[in-house]
Amino acid sequence: PSTHTRSRRVLLKVSGEVFGGGSVGLDPDVVSDAARQIADAVRQGIQVAVVVGGGNFFRGAELSQRGIDRARADYMGMLGTVMNALALQDFIEQAGVPARVQSAIAMTQVAEPYLPLRAIRHMEKGRVVIFGAGAGLPYFSTDTVSAQRALESHCDELLVGKNGVDGVYTADPRRDPNAKLLESLTYERALADGLQVVDASAFALCRDNNLTMRVFGMGEPGNITRALLGERIGTLVTS
Ligand code: UDP
Repeated sequence: PSTHTRSRRVLLKVSGEVFGGGSVGLDPDVVSDAARQIADAVRQGIQVAVVVGGGNFFRGAELSQRGIDRARADYMGMLGTVMNALALQDFIEQAGVPARVQSAIAMTQVAEPYLPLRAIRHMEKGRVVIFGAGAGLPYFSTDTVSAQRALESHCDELLVGKNGVDGVYTADPRRDPNAKLLESLTYERALADGLQVVDASAFALCRDNNLTMRVFGMGEPGNITRALLGERIGTLVTS
């Protein structure tokens, strides 16, 4: 991140599971609440990009175990992320902030193509940019893509919103009552301990390029706005 005086620019990763509200498909209440919180932060001057997952529709690895070719199953997974992106776009616009979807797979009627310089321009103009279709590449995950997009669009931080946990713990808090929330940790430690909050390639990409990551819980009302504004909630992961 450079030291010039532009306003804070962040990339928010939301997993598809969150948008599904615990089942397959979309929970409009969850999406519109996230959208309002994002719009709030934009109105306070934060530049926001979003990567949405697609696990509420399809995960390629799971589908391929049921007999669909892995790459084709991954494309199905990527198409699911675009549906999430469109829903989020709609609710952000309803909340009064312009939003654009950029897709890594060409589908010009519904989304712009992925154009990094234009994405930056959108954010500078106060528009939210939502990156859909992952990287457009089978065998990748939206976690890894979120790190890549954050780097390419010069975001100051990668924010990973989680469901059910409010950060990174010393052990699984659902199983170990002595598990403690960590305020910070390094990518080395996250990789060595095999932490699953995001996948290893996302951790490695952030580590190698000095991008800080904040893992936080989306359950608490207002937490998305807090994280976007830079409040120290959850766990900070650094090189
Ligand atoms: N996917 C892919 N390449 C990408 C991003 C996603 O093949 O660059 C596919 C993959 O099958 C994945 C699915 O899209 O399982 C949904 O994305 P992901 O599992 O990352 O979503 P999340 O778990 O965040 O909801």
